Amino acid sequence: MKVRFFKSLSFRLTLWYVVILAGIIVLAGFFIHQRFKDGLINDLDARLLEIANDVDDIWSRSRGVSWGDAARTAAEDYRDLAPLIQIVELGDRDEGGIKSLVAPAIGPDKAFTLDERTYRRADRADIDELLYLTVEEKEIDKHPLRVLLLPVRGPVLVQVGVSLRVIASDLQRLLIIVAITGGAVMLLASLGGNFIIRKALRPVRSAVETARRISTEDLSLRIDAGRRRDEIGELVDTFNDMITRLEKSVRKIKQFSGDVSHELRTPLTIIRGEVEVLLRKERSSEEYRRVLQSTLEETHNLETIIDDLLFLSRLEALAGKTLDSPVELDEVLLRVVESREPAVKAKGLRLKLDRVDETEVRGEEGLLARMIANLLDNAIRYTPEGGEVEVSLEGRGGANILSVRDTGIGIPKESIPSIFDRFYVADRSRSRETGGSGLGLSIVKHVAEVLGARIEVESEVGRGSVFRVVFGA
Ligand code: ADP
Repeated sequence: MKVRFFKSLSFRLTLWYVVILAGIIVLAGFFIHQRFKDGLINDLDARLLEIANDVDDIWSRSRGVSWGDAARTAAEDYRDLAPLIQIVELGDRDEGGIKSLVAPAIGPDKAFTLDERTYRRADRADIDELLYLTVEEKEIDKHPLRVLLLPVRGPVLVQVGVSLRVIASDLQRLLIIVAITGGAVMLLASLGGNFIIRKALRPVRSAVETARRISTEDLSLRIDAGRRRDEIGELVDTFNDMITRLEKSVRKIKQFSGDVSHELRTPLTIIRGEVEVLLRKERSSEEYRRVLQSTLEETHNLETIIDDLLFLSRLEALAGKTLDSPVELDEVLLRVVESREPAVKAKGLRLKLDRVDETEVRGEEGLLARMIANLLDNAIRYTPEGGEVEVSLEGRGGANILSVRDTGIGIPKESIPSIFDRFYVADRSRSRETGGSGLGLSIVKHVAEVLGARIEVESEVGRGSVFRVVFGA
């Protein structure tokens, strides 16, 4: 599967990143714009107050000057703002309404009156609390008016209005600066972000390519994460460990199938060789009998190997499952021991039953019987005539220990770690001769694993061995 660009992680991460960043920039831009606008309006308000005070000063300084003249002079003084100045005189409340506009509107536009309530509010306002308003209904140069109502003397108010056009160009300039800086920041951030994301994801791409090249034939490839110690590095390490484990198990499987073919081939080669030699000429019935006997034995060996292999694969299928039916282990042990009595007798051995405690374990009877039989068969097989095999089962400190002890040939120290491997036989000629397949202890180990038991071995060459299975410790 090839990842399409728009579906790629780097594209989606960059997109998210850019969207979030754009949101932040827009919010920040809006905030800056508002603060800047408030600042500009505050400055404008200060100038409105200057104009209103100017009107009042001119009127009070020069006797005989009409409000209209004072307003005109002040408008002239502040030409750059093109203020709209009006003088309003309030009538008594019961006379109703605005008594008069004392002076006509001075400024770029026609006079306009606000409602009476607003004028009365301004009249009441003390000097700390001047009444400024933005009048949306009245537009000059397509911008609303900012108006100050300053009560001057008695019922007289100076009304000064300036079009917000004067701050519009500053605001526009700010918007352009914010847009250009924001755009540049976003462009740089998205390019930088994309670069970092791509760099971070590079080992993933190399992992994909390596994984594509890996096959069961070549598991030696590993992904190179450089010296990264981050999550991606951890992922790559885990992936490499997984390939190593896979490589090991593939090697094991190959080795195993090689061993299986070899082990199955040996009896067949023997049978074939003997039968071929036998058929070369006429033989006595005694000779036919001998070869048929040996063929029977080899067939038996083949059967044992195949049975053991099937049993092992059944055990492997059970791995990870819990077997929890209760089994009377002492009864199983006694039954297996009894079934081996003829073999013990035939070999001239002594079989001793030491202590056998009543013991219940969780598992499956068939598996336990097979495990005990394999241990007992080995003890019988590797103990020469006149020797002794001793079996016991005892509960000790919360654990149940089943042990099979013999006074046989023993196992060399260096072989002990390998005896549980499949097809491992310490002494091949002896094992063949005695009918061993090399799978017996491997089965014992797997059964113990499935049942959650532990195996201990002690052995001394020439003196004997003891195998212990420890349940529940
Ligand atoms: P085998 O079928 O050859 O007995 P196992 O897997 O049962 O295979 O045992 C592996 C090897 O361990 C045997 O070939 C033998 O050399 C050694 N072994 C196992 N049990 C004993 C024992 N009781 N005494 C001595 N050697 C033993």
